[in-house]
Amino acid sequence: MAILKNIQCNKCGFKLLWGTGVAPYVKKPAGPLRKLLGMGGKKVFLTDPPSGNVSKEFGYKGLSDLIEEGRMGHYAAYLCLACFKVCELDSDAEKKCTKCKSTNIKSVFDMVKKPCPKCKEGTIEEKQIGIT
Ligand SMILES: [Zn+2]
Ligand SMILES: [Zn+2]
Repeated sequence: MAILKNIQCNKCGFKLLWGTGVAPYVKKPAGPLRKLLGMGGKKVFLTDPPSGNVSKEFGYKGLSDLIEEGRMGHYAAYLCLACFKVCELDSDAEKKCTKCKSTNIKSVFDMVKKPCPKCKEGTIEEKQIGIT
């Protein structure tokens, strides 16, 4: 279960998020071929935020084991304060806008209750719109 949220400005309607805002994944260890090619483990997205044990694919390991092994990661929504693009960024990667390469970015969740960066008059509000 995940909570769907709508994060937007109450004045200009600038939309920062419509959805869960976070996409968790588990890294599968790299196979021989991927290692040969110098590639890391494959990322497998979890459709539902995991609870307890994740699937057979990961050897029925508990979530805490996967976290301990450093195999959990996630993509999260960030707002670029330079060009106002909302980007989905990997928790493993550098936090940089995918459009203008600015590093002046913030998690969309950190923008809630803050003044709107776009119109500078409204306030960013978060609303729950449902549960998946
Ligand atoms: Zn606004
Ligand atoms: Zn940008």
